[in-house]
Amino acid sequence: MTEPKKPVFWYQGLFLQPQHFQQADLSHQSSLGPPKDKVDLIKEYNDVIGGQVCLNISAFERERWIANTVAGNGSGEPTKRRAFNRTMKNIEYASRQLGAVSIQINEANSDDAEKQADIARRMFPGVTVRACLALSDRAGILHETGALSNRDEIGRMSAGRSRVVDCNNTFTGIGGRHFGWLHVNALGKALLCCNDYHFDYTFGDFHADTLKDIWISERHATVIERSFREIYRKCSMAVWK
Ligand code: SF4
Repeated sequence: MTEPKKPVFWYQGLFLQPQHFQQADLSHQSSLGPPKDKVDLIKEYNDVIGGQVCLNISAFERERWIANTVAGNGSGEPTKRRAFNRTMKNIEYASRQLGAVSIQINEANSDDAEKQADIARRMFPGVTVRACLALSDRAGILHETGALSNRDEIGRMSAGRSRVVDCNNTFTGIGGRHFGWLHVNALGKALLCCNDYHFDYTFGDFHADTLKDIWISERHATVIERSFREIYRKCSMAVWK
């Protein structure tokens, strides 16, 4: 789809499928712990979560993980090394406690990706490991930062058509992100899509409102309509008519 030039990281999301409530925790690996915390909570509510925990990790060699993950956070070297050790321990704990942990290695270079995948499989034999070489364009933000450009892809997808009517990211239609998913950020705000990095398309606050009030609301409908005119037009996952 696009040629990545810088590492990009996901964060966790929560989605609501039409048929049942289900969580997909596409999470930073370091937020799993400490053990007896998030992992145990996921385990306790496994019927809701469906046992799916996908960890986005780009490396399993300590120095490479540090370079990709915590290099710029201002911590000293011992702290960074402890973060790596703690993270690997958390993953190990999660892989033993939870039924379906998977690891997605976001790495643009296929040789590097396969090398890291091999290390991960040896470290965590019970975990499904896959490499992801293609990165999401983050609804045009990466174009603006100069990391990669999605403009050619958008031009190809729109092919002279003027209106966005759907999203092609994972599911289309009623099961798609815009109609069927509910992402929740760390502040408890409901938003349409985890590619909305500036949180411009929020439609509720779980500190103040119930899920029912957030989901079945004028504001939700308005935000969907607005997103079709705005953020979707900058995203290569949009479906045009
Ligand atoms: S088209 Fe919209 S909902 Fe789909 S991935 Fe892009 S920004 Fe998210």
